[in-house]
Amino acid sequence: MEKTAELYQDLDRILVTKEEIADRVKKLGQTITKDYAGKAPVIICILKGASIFFADLIREIELPVTTDFMAISSYGSATKTSGVVRVLKDLDRDILGKDVIIVEDIVDSGITLSYLRKILLQRGAASLRIATLLDKPARRKVQDLKVDYVCFDIPDAFVVGYGLDYDQVYRNLPDIGVLSPRIYEP
Ligand code: 5GP
Repeated sequence: MEKTAELYQDLDRILVTKEEIADRVKKLGQTITKDYAGKAPVIICILKGASIFFADLIREIELPVTTDFMAISSYGSATKTSGVVRVLKDLDRDILGKDVIIVEDIVDSGITLSYLRKILLQRGAASLRIATLLDKPARRKVQDLKVDYVCFDIPDAFVVGYGLDYDQVYRNLPDIGVLSPRIYEP
């Protein structure tokens, strides 16, 4: 508990509280349950940032879903994407003919998701939708990327918590907050 209190001191402010997250994730689960009624979608967690969101979200979906995991890395500095995406861990199962939902932590430039969308559609998914916890619409570089489900639109700031990290730290904060630039600026 003391350790978490220390981590909170690195935040400039809390942007989304754990209560707000729980409420929104529950509603998104209900929406997906309705939208996919009669279907059994494959829910894909993009590691590692989306892991906590994914774990909470799938428990709010009342359908016989299956799950899979993918890890990707985008080269760049610690707080900015470069645009080059690499698959570090691929899916375990084929998605041919499946209804796929990608679960991502945050859409920033949109480069990562636009790349993922392309490769998963090439593999013959019957349908593909994107669910993201956070969206920074002001920073979008890929204009035609459709993000189907967004929990929260946020301003252009580097955020951590609820799965999102800086240098692998802060993922276990229950709330989402803006990391103080003094932590990552020289
Ligand atoms: P994009 O390709 O959309 O520019 O970048 C998406 C990825 O960049 C996210 O999956 C995440 O890993 C990282 N990212 C973008 N903005 C933030 C942020 O504010 N905080 C954290 N922790 N990661 C971010």
